[in-house]
Amino acid sequence: MPARLLEGYPVAEEILRDLREQLDAIVTQSSQRLGVAVLLPADAGAQSYARAIHKTLAPLGIEIRTISLDDSIDEERFREIVTRLNQQADVTGILALQPLPHNLPRWLPALTIAPEKDVDGITPLNVGRLHLGLPAIPPSTPAGAMELLRYYGIAVSGRRAVVVGRSPVVGRPLVSLLLSADATVTVCHRKTADLAEVTRTAELLFVAAGSPGLIGPEMVRPGAVVVDFGVNVVGERLVGDVDPAVAEVASALTPVPGGTGPVTNAVLARNLVTLARLQRS
Ligand code: ADP
Repeated sequence: MPARLLEGYPVAEEILRDLREQLDAIVTQSSQRLGVAVLLPADAGAQSYARAIHKTLAPLGIEIRTISLDDSIDEERFREIVTRLNQQADVTGILALQPLPHNLPRWLPALTIAPEKDVDGITPLNVGRLHLGLPAIPPSTPAGAMELLRYYGIAVSGRRAVVVGRSPVVGRPLVSLLLSADATVTVCHRKTADLAEVTRTAELLFVAAGSPGLIGPEMVRPGAVVVDFGVNVVGERLVGDVDPAVAEVASALTPVPGGTGPVTNAVLARNLVTLARLQRS
């Protein structure tokens, strides 16, 4: 029997429905709208993500300020921009989209954005809190996956989870979230010796490798739940890291597009509301 498709839109809609009421209350109390500053590099993928963010946040009445970063921007200029945004009361959260312009050191956004404006949970303070299992602003992509599992009633506690990918934005924070939810977690990466041998042990398989079709059906344990974070443009098409033929083996699978993506944006909106509440308390 083909896998159940875990669609992201109903999950996102549920999260956003809850948020609308909370947003109204915050805006009425403080008579100030929420705002997010998006640092946008000149990259097609980042631009398309920025459009998706706009589509989710604008209808909630959230102000979106886009700051374009050209490829020649240097570290000093980047620091100036972020320092100013850190100080502006009408900026609730700051989001630095990937890939960073190539002149900039990789950790610059994480080390310059103020933790109280860290809407995607990238600063060392938030990362540390998440790792310790303390209340934290979680990175929106892996937190969205946890919401997906919750919505579809998929148990995590006590189950064997495998995460493919150890990036700071998806793989690593997902490990923290899964551990806090009592899964037994194994992480794979580029140097993993026999990927298939490990992925076949997974009851819950999460794939964030940025490699189209990396996971084929022979790498999946029958009945596994498979979550695909891949966003790869191949020709004109958007494809995941998981071969669609995995649907013949898995019990449930997130589609690409329409799986983890929509939930990511809803969690981003929720993170912004959390920041607004913390800033006003
Ligand atoms: P993302 O932003 O989607 O997480 P990154 O490019 O930042 O993507 O990270 C990709 C991650 O996937 C890295 O941790 C890398 O080790 C892992 N990875 C890439 N290719 C493979 C592969 N063939 N097998 C296992 N892990 C891989």
